[in-house]
Amino acid sequence: MEKPFLKETSFAMKMSSSHNQETVCVFGTGDFGKSLGNKMFQCGYSVVFGSRNPGLSGLHPKGIEVLSYAEAARRSDLIIVAVHREHYNFLTELAEELNGKTLVDVSNNLKINQYPESNAEYLAELVPGAKIVKAFNTISAWALQSGTLDASRQVFVCGDDKEAKQRVMDIGCTLGLTPMDQGSLKVAKEIENYPLQLFPMWKFPLYLSAALCIFYFVYCMLREVIYPYIHEKKDNTFFLAISIPNRMCPGVALNLLALVYLPGIIAAILQLYRGTKYSRFPNWLDHWMLCRKQLGLVALAFAFLHVMYTLVIPIRHYVRWKWSNSVISQIKTNKTNPFNVTNAWLSDSYLALGILGFFLFVLLGITSLPSVSNTVNWREFRFIQLPKTGSQGDAHQLGNG
Ligand code: NAP
Repeated sequence: MEKPFLKETSFAMKMSSSHNQETVCVFGTGDFGKSLGNKMFQCGYSVVFGSRNPGLSGLHPKGIEVLSYAEAARRSDLIIVAVHREHYNFLTELAEELNGKTLVDVSNNLKINQYPESNAEYLAELVPGAKIVKAFNTISAWALQSGTLDASRQVFVCGDDKEAKQRVMDIGCTLGLTPMDQGSLKVAKEIENYPLQLFPMWKFPLYLSAALCIFYFVYCMLREVIYPYIHEKKDNTFFLAISIPNRMCPGVALNLLALVYLPGIIAAILQLYRGTKYSRFPNWLDHWMLCRKQLGLVALAFAFLHVMYTLVIPIRHYVRWKWSNSVISQIKTNKTNPFNVTNAWLSDSYLALGILGFFLFVLLGITSLPSVSNTVNWREFRFIQLPKTGSQGDAHQLGNG
């Protein structure tokens, strides 16, 4: 079987045949510079490295040259600066060589908003004659080396020069990545913050579900454990393990599901009230809209938990004890409870609706995954997710626009 890495490389090789050995220069022979340079070389680009110590820069595939920064800069009009921002000063000395060329800033920071301006804007200040493009900072050196490209393939690209930006996006495509044009260089700061953010869209859904869990748990505990203990001295503490979580899960799941659809309705009312689609939503509503997918997935997780808690009911000691007790008392009193058709109908309908509801919930969850939603067309997607996405498109447009 062909390995994914080989497949990817051969695909990239095929793609590369169209760009006649374009020479790309990479400044810095560190981890990232090497990984990106080697990947571009594999994909058919002619690569030349710029280094402080060309003779000491380690092993490179045959065909790759390592030169001084100035010499390397003269060999290409597209230069990838794989150097940390703190060391950008040496670029001012190369201002003449870099004039009119495209400089790609790939740098990241250690903290969010570490500097007043983005690294890319700082680079533009240092080398005013160059066309600066921000790209590749969201791809790790490991992902480039391993070839499997774990994590995201998305490359966020921004810059003020359209042509330069397009060249960098073409390189991204050739490497098998997914370039996404984010606009002008002003967006660079946001792009530099992406790799430092830890699940930004998951915080609100997770905090909210934690708050709902606490609320339901405490409420059920008061009703089913503390109240019977105070009134009847009954010890129901074992309910805390399965019975109460099983009551809590569907409550949390349904509340979260409602909160997936609620912002769309609020947004629609706001649009009607304002009489226009073309105005910005308040920040809280915008953020709420943007994390609806995460809210839905957390809700689905709680629905799964409910299913699992329900499936173990027959093997619980308490339930088995209750059944055998009821059978023994019927034997003792020599009396059988007649079969109640109405109760049988009620219980079966209750379970059938639960199964159907869970199936629709899973369907909703699966179709919101990008890999699945990409396989259905717009009408099919709206048919399944109608109320939610009906306003989501508008919301995104308005919220972000
Ligand atoms: P690194 O391994 O430390 O390499 C940095 C390179 O910068 C050095 O090898 C050196 O190359 C060059 N350099 C130029 N002037 C320097 C100076 N005064 N002091 C030290 N080094 C100097 O770092 P890296 O991981 O390759 O990262 C390079 C850039 O890529 C950074 O901006 C980083 O934020 C970004 N990035 C890295 C990753 C990653 O996964 N590593 C991912 C995305 C973005 P020479 O010795 O050849 O001169």
